[in-house]
Amino acid sequence: MQYDVVTIGGGFSGLVTACRAAELGLSVAVLEERDEDRYPCSSRYATGAANVMGLPIMSEPDRLFAAIVKGSGRNANPAVARAVANNGKRAIAWLSLQGAQFTSRALRHDQPGQQVLAPVRAETAGLDWEDRGADQLMRRLEQNLTRRGSALIRGFKVEALAVEDDACVGVEAVRDGTRFRISSQAVVIADGGFAANPEMVAQYITPHAGRVLARVGPGAKGDGIRMAAKAGAAVGGFGAFYGHIDHASAMTNARQWPYPHLDAAAEIGIVVGPDGQRFTDEGLGGVCVANAIAHLPDPLSAFLILDEAIWNAEPALTTTVPANPAMVDAGGELLSSPDVGMLAALTHLPADQLARSIGQHNDAVDSDDFAGLAVTRSIRKHKPMPIRTAPFHAIPLCAGITGTMGGMVINEHAQAQKPNGTNFRGLYAVGTPIAGLEGGPRAGYVGGLSKAFILGMLAAEHIASVR
Ligand SMILES: Cc1cc2nc3c(=O)[nH]c(=O)nc-3n(C[C@H](O)[C@H](O)[C@H](O)COP(=O)(O)OP(=O)(O)OC[C@H]3O[C@@H](n4cnc5c(N)ncnc54)[C@H](O)[C@@H]3O)c2cc1C
Repeated sequence: MQYDVVTIGGGFSGLVTACRAAELGLSVAVLEERDEDRYPCSSRYATGAANVMGLPIMSEPDRLFAAIVKGSGRNANPAVARAVANNGKRAIAWLSLQGAQFTSRALRHDQPGQQVLAPVRAETAGLDWEDRGADQLMRRLEQNLTRRGSALIRGFKVEALAVEDDACVGVEAVRDGTRFRISSQAVVIADGGFAANPEMVAQYITPHAGRVLARVGPGAKGDGIRMAAKAGAAVGGFGAFYGHIDHASAMTNARQWPYPHLDAAAEIGIVVGPDGQRFTDEGLGGVCVANAIAHLPDPLSAFLILDEAIWNAEPALTTTVPANPAMVDAGGELLSSPDVGMLAALTHLPADQLARSIGQHNDAVDSDDFAGLAVTRSIRKHKPMPIRTAPFHAIPLCAGITGTMGGMVINEHAQAQKPNGTNFRGLYAVGTPIAGLEGGPRAGYVGGLSKAFILGMLAAEHIASVR
């Protein structure tokens, strides 16, 4: 089996790379481990909002570039950040020519409309992907690939990279117990990262990997990063992840993820640990708070504390699926009590400390002065509200990992790098398993779809140009 390009994985990263490469005249095989017709993966589950560091992908490149540099705490490689910022509009135009349908929708109340794949998902709890925009685009890309004489081959699990003379020259894959060697001029790792691999989550994020939620497709096992590291590619940039704040029952109740999540409610209430104290800056938003929860000694020990007024305000602030009422309707417990003391008893939080944390929060809201709080509180999207209208509520939380950060070190063409800073000939990485674009102290997240769409397109164009 011989191709110009092989992609490891058939999510958006692999499919976009493959379609663009096929369009440029290359023969491509997309090797996908799963064998279902509509195999589950994060791409198929995606809500479909294409943004860059929270800004609409159609924003001016200089604005996007500045947002990536700032949001990543200067963790981003400027050349890669510039490539992403400069090519967002072009990627959307190219995808539209492939048949992608976008609608403009404000996913945050304080922002202009963003490109969202249409039709959009319903405002219901749990997964809702069948025939939604992402699912439709995946099928359209496969059709386009096949029409151009290339193939998406299901049921092939890539297990190793083939390296000769310091260059990647293909892969070894297994199907139904038989091992195949597939040769190619370029191999593109597009396997979706490692959120569904507890050993790697334990190694890079939290030792308590069994107590955080893999809020992703099942194939994100980190194969690509491990194969690349073994072959001598540079990897790094681990530690943070893209994710959301979920109800703790999402660990076992599939209707609690991916939606509703509790990001908006956490921005106006408070999040406390098992000692009843705030431990994180809720104002920085769901990604940051989810990271802080994951790093607790017990990631399943945090509670969101709010009151009836906040709970009733939440639906107007959430732009996906409001937790009120979807969380409760889907079986997520809302612990409620007429006073804080009884709420402490329900949650087993220390009553005095919980009352103190609520009191300090209320004082800060009343005086509009958050500087005196022991744990800083930023005011960004939504203003915090006081917690004083009974009944009082507590929600047990978990951290949902929607996409890992870190992986292969790449350049602006998505070419893999070696530890000595030279290119790893024939090897590329796109989408989730890359380093040097995200992270930093605030877990800056560029956007899973933009990384898949833009880097996939750039990798294909570079492979075609050096052929
Ligand atoms: C519920 C949900 C909602 C989301 N919403 C958004 C959104 O609105 N906007 C946004 O920007 N991002 C969103 N994301 C993130 C985004 O969907 C992902 O970042 C992106 O789709 C990842 O695409 P990918 O192709 O890199 O990975 P995936 O879609 O995970 O595809 C990787 C594929 O590789 C296969 N694979 C893995 N290992 C191997 C192997 N060894 N051999 C062969 N195949 C292998 C897997 O089976 C899988 O099919 C969301 C994610 C989730 C889970």
